Amino acid sequence: MYLSKSKYCLGVQCEKILWLDKYKSEEKEETKNDAVLDNGTEVGIYAQQLFGDYTVVDFNTNLSKMIDDTKEYLKQDNIILCEASLSYNNNFCSVDILKKDNDSYEIYEVKSSTEVKDIYLDDASYQYYVLKNLGLNVNKVSIIHINSNYVRHGEIELNKLFNIVDITDIAISKQEYIKNKIDELNEYMNNKEEVDKDIDLYCFYPYECPFFKYCSRHLPNNNVFNLRGMPIKSKMKYYHDGKYSYKDLLNEKINEKYKQQIEFEMNDLKPYINKDNIRKVLNDLSDKIYFLDFETYQMAIPPYDNIRPYEQIPFQYSLHILNNNNLEHKEFLSEDSIDPRRSLAERLVNDIPINSCTVAYNMSFEKMVIKALANIYPDLSEHLMNIYNNMKDLMIPFKDRDYYVKEMEGSYSIKYVLPALFPNDPSLDYHNLNLVHKGDEASNAFLSLSKLDKKEKEKLRYALLKYCELDTYAMVKIYDKLKEVTN
Ligand code: SF4
Repeated sequence: MYLSKSKYCLGVQCEKILWLDKYKSEEKEETKNDAVLDNGTEVGIYAQQLFGDYTVVDFNTNLSKMIDDTKEYLKQDNIILCEASLSYNNNFCSVDILKKDNDSYEIYEVKSSTEVKDIYLDDASYQYYVLKNLGLNVNKVSIIHINSNYVRHGEIELNKLFNIVDITDIAISKQEYIKNKIDELNEYMNNKEEVDKDIDLYCFYPYECPFFKYCSRHLPNNNVFNLRGMPIKSKMKYYHDGKYSYKDLLNEKINEKYKQQIEFEMNDLKPYINKDNIRKVLNDLSDKIYFLDFETYQMAIPPYDNIRPYEQIPFQYSLHILNNNNLEHKEFLSEDSIDPRRSLAERLVNDIPINSCTVAYNMSFEKMVIKALANIYPDLSEHLMNIYNNMKDLMIPFKDRDYYVKEMEGSYSIKYVLPALFPNDPSLDYHNLNLVHKGDEASNAFLSLSKLDKKEKEKLRYALLKYCELDTYAMVKIYDKLKEVTN
């Protein structure tokens, strides 16, 4: 079997992933991992510059061409070769950065993550296996990853942006395992008959497996894996103990919130409303309320000064101001390709006066964004921190389960709460929006603006405004609903 390093890593997670991918790919479902953007490409390009002059093996769908090109380049005594492509006995790998110094080699695997995960060790060790078996004298294997403590000031400082972790000893220690694993995978893949494999933690670590629905098809519809918020380890324990149906779980000592989800879904219960507790939340709000929601994006490589890798960078907000029965809307959407933070912060302090009652849904996010702005703009800091200190959270009644509807399915995210409270209101249905329907789409849309022509840009900017507007309009409607049910 032809085995790439990514296939090998999947095989380490579970050999059946490879088998299903080959023989039953139609059972594959989309998972969160598919959406992981390759921040990696940009990171890779920066990492290549860590070593000075370098050569890149051009990508070719014909791997033999890349392998031949690599061989040719490696005839040089000293070279930094990126995307070096090598194959031993059908085991193929592409080395992010291969440093050749006379007859010795160093492997550098680049990751856009801020830590070294176990699966990276398998990845890099597999590369060591291929190169060693080709007879190359590899004396160092390292993982290059993003340093989350780095803060950009001026030009990117590559040696501060990246951490380089030497994992040579681990790579050496894994060689016997890799050899056996490759044999095992080859044998497994040659078998056309499907072998039963029970689900376990490896279905979720290091990545959520796209075949979980298929491999768990023996479970009843209402089972422990539908419970929102329960750690996967606990779910697996109940599963292995044979107590995985909702009925079984009701006899177990489980948290009240799981019991509530189960009972509501099993018995089709009517909404639960704790009026007194909801009133306490409402009484804490003023007559004039500023409903605020930010949209942000994140980059592995900080695009501007005073930003850490993956820091949330706000580029947009929507603000609905409810003054008794009067509703006013304000909004901000930055121009693209500029640092949006200063103009956003200025507009925000203009739109929200000192000592206002500002309400967000899951306010820890909005507070984090405001605090970061206050830290970098001392002249606005006092006003921003006043907004921060006066912020209230509309999520509380749902998080505390003082208002629970079966359709929330155990979640208190606004994306569940809203349709559960307003199932028949098309004006509150995110599906009815154009182009942008959720947070990650908003980030991607904003980042793509600079590549669009004027007309397309206007269209997408309009979609972004409508999306963010719905986020705060939804809060206003939820607030109204809380008042209605407590009257
Ligand atoms: S769901 Fe689990 S058992 Fe099935 S292929 Fe994926 S990891 Fe393997």
